[in-house]
Amino acid sequence: MDSIQTFADLGLSADILSGLIKKGFVSPTPIQAQTIPLLLSGERDIIGQAQTGTGKTAAFGLPIIERITPGLRKVQAIVLAPTRELANQVCEELDSLRGTRNISILPVYGGQGMATQLKALKQGVDIVVATPGRAIDHIERKTLKLNDVKFVVLDEADEMLNMGFVEDIEHILTHVPEQRRMLLFSATMPGPILKLAQKFMGEYDEVKVATKQQSATTVEQVFYEIYEKDKLRALHRLIETETEFYALVFCRTRMGADRLAGKLTEIGYDVEALHGDVTQVQRERILAKFKSGHATILVATDVAARGIDINNLSHVINFDMPDSPEAYVHRIGRTGRAGKTGKAISFVAPGEWRKLQMVQQVTRADIKRGQLPWGQEVIELKRNSMKERVFAAAEGEIMQEFYDLAADILNSGKPKQLLASLLQMHFGGNLNVNAYPEIREPERSGFKGSRHSLERHGGPRPSTSASGRSEKGGYFDRKERPSSNGKFSGKPFFKKKKFAQ
Ligand code: ADP
Ligand code: MG
Repeated sequence: MDSIQTFADLGLSADILSGLIKKGFVSPTPIQAQTIPLLLSGERDIIGQAQTGTGKTAAFGLPIIERITPGLRKVQAIVLAPTRELANQVCEELDSLRGTRNISILPVYGGQGMATQLKALKQGVDIVVATPGRAIDHIERKTLKLNDVKFVVLDEADEMLNMGFVEDIEHILTHVPEQRRMLLFSATMPGPILKLAQKFMGEYDEVKVATKQQSATTVEQVFYEIYEKDKLRALHRLIETETEFYALVFCRTRMGADRLAGKLTEIGYDVEALHGDVTQVQRERILAKFKSGHATILVATDVAARGIDINNLSHVINFDMPDSPEAYVHRIGRTGRAGKTGKAISFVAPGEWRKLQMVQQVTRADIKRGQLPWGQEVIELKRNSMKERVFAAAEGEIMQEFYDLAADILNSGKPKQLLASLLQMHFGGNLNVNAYPEIREPERSGFKGSRHSLERHGGPRPSTSASGRSEKGGYFDRKERPSSNGKFSGKPFFKKKKFAQ
């Protein structure tokens, strides 16, 4: 299921989605992306195999929360876990996932006061998370009734097996209705587990996630407060100074997307635009081009970006702030996948400040204030990025013929001059401090929620100042294109192998 990208795509309800946003979940882990749709729609049992820390609790928890009846106060789902610590953890996680739904979840394990458990069970609960031994105790006492159970989850099944709980589990399973749905999660699948599955499960789907993948994806979130008219220039500066830039850039309107794509193409980048006016055929061509890396920047509107299956973006840029916190989360969930760090960058014009505040309030995300580099700092960043690229390229395969040519050229005795000319020819651009004046933040005096309350991102300002502090407006940094020497190749660094999953 390649095209699934965000929690919204998985078919969860709005209230659950906003709960996830509050919890700070940006995008589903692989096991979640694969399991949740199956559980939300189908009727089959499931075996899920994935390492610890891959978010299995939400993988089964979210669909269960979606599908049971709130407020019923009869046990509709029972989760069996090997230890009390795990039972407690699962309980807490489920409780945080239910959002505002009236669902009562109870941990049941040995060593915990029986009286408390009895009281809670008597009042009625919807989900029980139990260790097998204590679950049996309550079943025998008839204090745990399982006739309304729709879901049975065996969490960490291999551990339960190792701890000798097989018979207990089998015993518990004889007390749940035939039509229950069984979900078995385990990091490994030894023979006895499969036997257990065959004995107690109906037809099942198997979901397996490769060991390497990690759960929490990290997205570094930064915002820049700038004037609307400076946005393009700011974007250009970011592209020039980041070492890697494979990005989805979000615009609010079709026209805005087209215009931005046009401007970036003019500067020399490989850009495509995706919006509502693009035909299906064009869309496929554009996406193929972007996926293969032939285009490294995709400018899109929210609607057009829905459902595209592109992973491993280095950046998501909110060129225009999204209209809702949900859209923000949806957008930024497209970077930072598969254990890599991604960057989500928001440009906030004076009229968009409230949108940013909304996002921050609802998501409680840690969005750091950034300052665009200028003057000497840009030069340093660009120099480093060029060096990195040259050194990285030198690591790759170089054909013997080029070595021969190099030797030949070096024989002329002017190596420094020759390398300089080569670099200029290849990178073009500008290494002159004066070309990068400060892009100034808008004045926002007397505004509540002062900018000073937000932490600064990045180091201290460069001491060397560019000559032009004042803003002359206009879109581009001046003198961007090399005058004569060769074609400007403002090609962002794109190393394919780095993006392999
Ligand atoms: P597992 O059961 O596979 O070991 P857990 O369900 O305990 O993993 O989740 C591990 C951690 O990852 C928890 O802190 C959980 O809140 C967090 N987590 C789960 N899913 C996501 C997600 N989609 N995004 C961010 N964090 C997540
Ligand atoms: Mg777990």
